[in-house]
Amino acid sequence: MIYLKTDEEIELMRVANLLVGATLAEVAKHIEPGVTTLQLDKIGDEFIRDHGAIPLFKGYNGFPNALCISINENVVHGIPGDYRLKEGDIVSVDCGTKINGYCGDSAYTFEVGEVSPATKKLLETTKESLSVGIEAAVEGKRIGDIGNAIQTYCEAHGYSVVRDLVGHGIGREMHEDPQVPNYGKKGYGPLLRNGMCIAIEPMINLGKRNVKFEKDGWTVRTADRKPSAHFEHTIAIRQGKADILSSFEFINQVLQNK
Ligand code: MG
Ligand code: MG
Repeated sequence: MIYLKTDEEIELMRVANLLVGATLAEVAKHIEPGVTTLQLDKIGDEFIRDHGAIPLFKGYNGFPNALCISINENVVHGIPGDYRLKEGDIVSVDCGTKINGYCGDSAYTFEVGEVSPATKKLLETTKESLSVGIEAAVEGKRIGDIGNAIQTYCEAHGYSVVRDLVGHGIGREMHEDPQVPNYGKKGYGPLLRNGMCIAIEPMINLGKRNVKFEKDGWTVRTADRKPSAHFEHTIAIRQGKADILSSFEFINQVLQNK
């Protein structure tokens, strides 16, 4: 069941999603060698609560923290802990909030100091593929058009697309219908309609697409242990095209001043 949102609901979702963007930026200020992922989680958790919202991930199916923090070969769903960031790492931070009954969800993969050129290119391409996917999110097209656009773009650059995890509808619940794969065929899948709100979130690997689930029950890593990148925006389809509800603008400001 796909719930179409009214303009009023979309504006409430924008509030939740802009707070996610601001939280990711607050976390970005503290990303440097030596900081632990649990310290980053605490910063995010407090920032969300200080703004009158609930950290959406905490307690979701028993997830223990406010942020999913995934390092290097970890794709998504990393549990914050005592790992200390080091120069050359990449760190994917996924954040969700709920405020006024509506959810926000967005993710960004950060560089810690100088990363290798190959890894830097992976991050750039994955971020670009998110934009390519968003451009395909047009009324009258289908979910498969989004995935096809992302897959085509990333595979043309020699990367692989994770198949085991997908984007999703979002609204009053974090995960609503439809699923939004980062791969697929043009013209297939549910029709894109005005009022649809979806999280588009390419998870792109430098090596092969296969992933493994770690024994902690959460962390997903690449099978070949090569790096993986993850960028996510929540969008609404309004007046025929994508209206991006989350924002990387706050992050850009922090990164420019680093
Ligand atoms: Mg997310
Ligand atoms: Mg998501």
